[in-house]
Amino acid sequence: MATRQGKAAIVGGGIGGLTAANALVRHGWHVDVFERARSLPETGTALGMWPEALDALTVAGRGTVLGRRVEKLGVRQSSAAFLRWDGRTIGRIHDLARSALLLSRPALLSILAHGLPPGIVQFGTTRRDLTDLNAYDVVVGADGINSAVRDKLFGPAFRPAYTGYAAWRGWVPGTVTTMSESWGPDALFGITPRDGNLTNWFAAVRTPAGGTGSVDELRERYRDWHPAVREVLDRVEPAASLYHDLYESPPLPSFVQGKVALIGDAAHAMAPNLGRGACEAMVDAAKLSELLAEYPVREALQRYDRARRRRTQRLVRASRALAGLATARRFTALRDPLVGAALHFT
Ligand SMILES: Cc1cc2nc3c(=O)[nH]c(=O)nc-3n(C[C@H](O)[C@H](O)[C@H](O)COP(=O)(O)OP(=O)(O)OC[C@H]3O[C@@H](n4cnc5c(N)ncnc54)[C@H](O)[C@@H]3O)c2cc1C
Repeated sequence: MATRQGKAAIVGGGIGGLTAANALVRHGWHVDVFERARSLPETGTALGMWPEALDALTVAGRGTVLGRRVEKLGVRQSSAAFLRWDGRTIGRIHDLARSALLLSRPALLSILAHGLPPGIVQFGTTRRDLTDLNAYDVVVGADGINSAVRDKLFGPAFRPAYTGYAAWRGWVPGTVTTMSESWGPDALFGITPRDGNLTNWFAAVRTPAGGTGSVDELRERYRDWHPAVREVLDRVEPAASLYHDLYESPPLPSFVQGKVALIGDAAHAMAPNLGRGACEAMVDAAKLSELLAEYPVREALQRYDRARRRRTQRLVRASRALAGLATARRFTALRDPLVGAALHFT
């Protein structure tokens, strides 16, 4: 069957947008990516990339070329430890069936951007209005959690809502060999390997929105936690840490309207507890592009909505549920053995 081709405007050159651009270019589409940032980021924290994300790269990236670059830079992890705040073990996963890869966001964005022919990404271009994109066959809203494209389609009622959690995350020099996540009342702390001989860390705390996010407050918050957490926090530099309030999307009635499709956080921002937001953005991008290469635009978009909306909205709910489980104040004596047993059979 002949591959369908056309002209696509992609608003947002983040993880989803650049994956979609690679996939569409590979199918012979004319693509313009409009990215607000002036250039690719130079620093950033690590993302856990699951096998589905690597499969999406295979779709997007001239067979296995992009996937191979990601595999080369990323750090493979097939085991993980879940601990209590005092260091006691809740459970361990020794052999993830298909392991996760840890890679920093700047490294991933650089690989995706350099997979494209020059001139496709127009940096320093903020798009809020869709009317001047009329000449395109399809418009992809890949503009992240505060998506202007989603606002145009569904209005302010569908903006993401505060989850009740804020997160610090960052990196410190040196490597660790295994991923760990420690759970305590109203807070969790994660430590993972990443590329560049660095250690990635993240902390999520239940707190009102609008905190200052100071590193002193972070250290104070975890001062009674087990030594591995405190040892990382002792080495945190404010310049190598980020603070965000965490938001999640309400369920959108559709991921598509007319010739516009939403992908990634614009469609389904989720709490980071499952570590899947970026992966799902890449899977959206690959799926949408495959369908656009096979079906007329309107049909491709309807099929995309059917393929991706329910699953990703379930993940939004699951991620929120996991946040509650990890930071529970009560019933942890019951939770811990149950989680331990469940992990044992993973
Ligand atoms: C603490 C934390 C930890 C996380 N850990 C993980 C993890 O381990 N694994 C994982 O898979 N996910 C993780 N995520 C989620 C992941 O970061 C997001 O889901 C992912 O970045 C979404 O990709 P995206 O392409 O939809 O949006 P983004 O990557 O946010 O890209 C959106 C792009 O659009 C641009 N833009 C915005 N507005 C406009 C506009 N009007 N015009 C032009 N450009 C615009 C922005 O500059 C940006 O480049 C984490 C998130 C957080 C907060």
